[in-house]
Amino acid sequence: MGHDRVMTKYVYAFSEGSKDQKDLLGGKGANLAEMTNLGLPVPPGFIISTEACRAYLAEGREPEALSEEVSAHLEALQKEMGKTLGQADDPLLVSVRSGAKFSMPGMMETVLNVGLNDESVRGLAAKADGDERFAYDSYRRLLAMFGSTVLGVESEVFHQALEDLKNDRGTKNDLDLDVGDFQDLVATYKKLISDHTGSDFPQDPREQLDMAVRAVFDSWNTERAVLYRRQERIPADLGTAVSICSMVFGNCGMNSGTGVAFTRDPASGAQGIYGDYLQNAQGEDVVAGIRNTVPLADLEDINKPSYDELLAIMETLEGHYKDLCDIEFTVERGKLWMLQTRVGKRTAEAAFRIAVQLVDQGLIGMDEALQRVNGDQLAQLMFPRFDVDAERNLIGKGMNASPGAAVGKVVFDSTTAVEWSDRGEDVILVRRETNPDDLKGMVCAKGILTSRGGKTSHAAVVARGMGRTCVCGADSLDVDVKKKVFTSADGVTVNEGDVISIDGTTGEVFVGEVPVVDSFVVRHFEGDEAAEGDELVAAVARIMEHADSARRLAVRANVDTPEDSTRARRFGAQGIGLCRTEHMFLGERKTLVEHLIVAETSQEQEEALSALLPQQREDFIGILEAMDGLPVTIRLIDPPLHEFLPDYTELSVAVALEDERGERDTKQHKLLDAVTRLHEQNPMLGLRGVRLGIVIPGLFAMQARAILEATAERTKAGGDPQPEIMIPLVASVQELELVRSDIIKVAGEIEDEREVKLSFKVGTMIELPRAVMAASEIAGVAEFFSFGTNDLTQMTWGFSRDDVEASFFGTYLDKGIFGVSPFETLDRDGVGQLVRLAVEKGRESRPDLHLGVCGEHGGDPDSIHFFDEVGLDYVSCSPFRVPVARLEAGRSAG
Ligand code: ADP
Ligand code: MG
Ligand code: MG
Repeated sequence: MGHDRVMTKYVYAFSEGSKDQKDLLGGKGANLAEMTNLGLPVPPGFIISTEACRAYLAEGREPEALSEEVSAHLEALQKEMGKTLGQADDPLLVSVRSGAKFSMPGMMETVLNVGLNDESVRGLAAKADGDERFAYDSYRRLLAMFGSTVLGVESEVFHQALEDLKNDRGTKNDLDLDVGDFQDLVATYKKLISDHTGSDFPQDPREQLDMAVRAVFDSWNTERAVLYRRQERIPADLGTAVSICSMVFGNCGMNSGTGVAFTRDPASGAQGIYGDYLQNAQGEDVVAGIRNTVPLADLEDINKPSYDELLAIMETLEGHYKDLCDIEFTVERGKLWMLQTRVGKRTAEAAFRIAVQLVDQGLIGMDEALQRVNGDQLAQLMFPRFDVDAERNLIGKGMNASPGAAVGKVVFDSTTAVEWSDRGEDVILVRRETNPDDLKGMVCAKGILTSRGGKTSHAAVVARGMGRTCVCGADSLDVDVKKKVFTSADGVTVNEGDVISIDGTTGEVFVGEVPVVDSFVVRHFEGDEAAEGDELVAAVARIMEHADSARRLAVRANVDTPEDSTRARRFGAQGIGLCRTEHMFLGERKTLVEHLIVAETSQEQEEALSALLPQQREDFIGILEAMDGLPVTIRLIDPPLHEFLPDYTELSVAVALEDERGERDTKQHKLLDAVTRLHEQNPMLGLRGVRLGIVIPGLFAMQARAILEATAERTKAGGDPQPEIMIPLVASVQELELVRSDIIKVAGEIEDEREVKLSFKVGTMIELPRAVMAASEIAGVAEFFSFGTNDLTQMTWGFSRDDVEASFFGTYLDKGIFGVSPFETLDRDGVGQLVRLAVEKGRESRPDLHLGVCGEHGGDPDSIHFFDEVGLDYVSCSPFRVPVARLEAGRSAG
């Protein structure tokens, strides 16, 4: 009665919380509460909520009610323990532990033994059968932890003092230090604290507690914590909880100790006894490398009852959390105490194995198993790896641009790459950076190494698209393409033909051959029966099957050749979402394109086009055959034509030299004229996509003819070709209408000529903001939309992918403007809203409009979930990403 507002509750006893309250109690606190309520031996304590932290950070001081609430909980704790905090003759001591919803390095560390002071340290000794060494060991630990984490003295200062003392005593082992040594250390530490901070170590136990709690709150905003949150995309306003836990002591003799454990092997998922134990030690000693730990299994001999109890608890935890757990525990004079648990991190391999093991144990169902793995983990399992036991000679390191392990002879240009690989050699293409001219070399190389450029450089993007191993930006390597040599920082020289090994998963570059182990998972996808017996493969296969049955979203592949189409099908692709036709204009066909561009009369132009026609037709026949019965989206030529022409500078020099020698070659001159004419300041915003089709008569008609003649031929051969002709870079419905009517006309001609009924679709890419706004009208003409999210991202943000990453992306990522490049993961708030809008407008005017995405985002897990959410029909990605997309589409549906 009379309360006019509800009081916020800031403090919770362990018994009041549960594992589902990570938001409020932090991960550590929530799991301590959970274990307490499971009846496990957890030292009693309470948790100050993240809400208190948020209030503190907002107001700059503790909320008024907090101190009283802490007092009430402390009193209850003291009653339960039968002693008061820091009580002179028998002190209650506590640990003050930080713990946010997500575990976060960079936050304040834990302070142990809070409540000790000059008086209570003697009480602690007296109560421990006069074990003064133990008491002063505990006190010096408090001084060092409090001094560094609460009072801000460099921890190195305390560390050095301890080292000095050990040196003085002629030992490296802390077990050799006696009570006198620790008393000396306590005096030294107290002096260091007053010297560095200008005030004495606080003797009042409650003051220690309050200061430690406040320091945990403050640590939410340390530079390291802020940076970590940005990188991991953890919201900045969650705040941390603080757990106050009564102390148990692993440092009171050899029948005490502290340890860590996993309920299964986090590397393989195998069940067994995994962990480390350290006798007569406290807190982090076990992981700090103070002394050599023993394997957890040895605890059986050291202390059988505790060991048995621990094993039973581990089983309880697994059964309860239904997952691998990691654990921190302490044994105090033979009695086991649980100090922490959480669902443990694991390798990709273990994730798949554990998920199906848990299904087989009846702990979880397949739906849950599917949520326990993810596409990144699957991708990791698909790359070949270097044998970790082999000898390796590291000569440099760059960015891990596209994972995998590649070994081959070094080549410095595309032509040599093609020649050598044609005669069966494995090559690694080494360049300072790559450009579209290097494509052929990149296609046939085992791996690509560049000394410049970041994760969104041309080399990285193209390599990822092809599933080719790539290390980029290895700037310690000096690459001289002309001299065909590169040199490492240590002066190792690598010539053309020398063998190197590159690891696209770590970014490492080795000279010489490092043995590679194949991915069994890929062999399985490729239908290799030898892979079937493998346990990991079986786990992956089961989960994939479930993903396929759960998903709504179809998965297609971005491929341009019959071989890749076949492979993509084996990987589970349900069609082609993007068949680029410009790759079909490379090689010797480049000359045909040159003819087309320099043509002066319409007859010359027609001749050039009809020379290209049969070649394109052959390409399409092969692809439609490989994808028989499945949709094949073919994009008409997209990039600016200058990409097919010689370099402007080189050509002008060549022409000038010829002129000087009086060997005037009109063909060269015409070519130079064309190159000059087509030169653009901003090719990305220039004559490309549908604009080419409108400006160059006959070009799109020729492509459409090649596609539809191939379709006619496949139909006549009894096949089921399903071509979808896709027009790139459309901004207005008029553009699409123009091109579409040409295509319809060509189709009519072919149907008459060949006496066959053609079945095909015409649609468009949505990759310009204007196309989004005009999506209703465009959908009136287009039978499908495919979102070209690469261009849509460029055009929406107004930056060119090929340029910006080297210039300012690094800074943007550092400053947290985006947590991840918008070219890697779709920018939901900006570009994503455009996608959403186009979907709505498009379906409004044509309810059966078919919708897909063919940008690189089609293979990115987070983006796939978004595309599913907005109701696309399919995603399309490189063949290698197809299984990843299937898995993520399944997870998204679940
Ligand atoms: P972290 O987040 O770094 O794991 P913790 O809060 O878990 O920090 O504590 C650090 C170390 O101190 C751990 O080894 C933990 O087991 C130990 N520890 C924490 N609280 C207590 C306690 N009340 N009694 C004994 N050891 C403790
Ligand atoms: Mg730690
Ligand atoms: Mg811990």
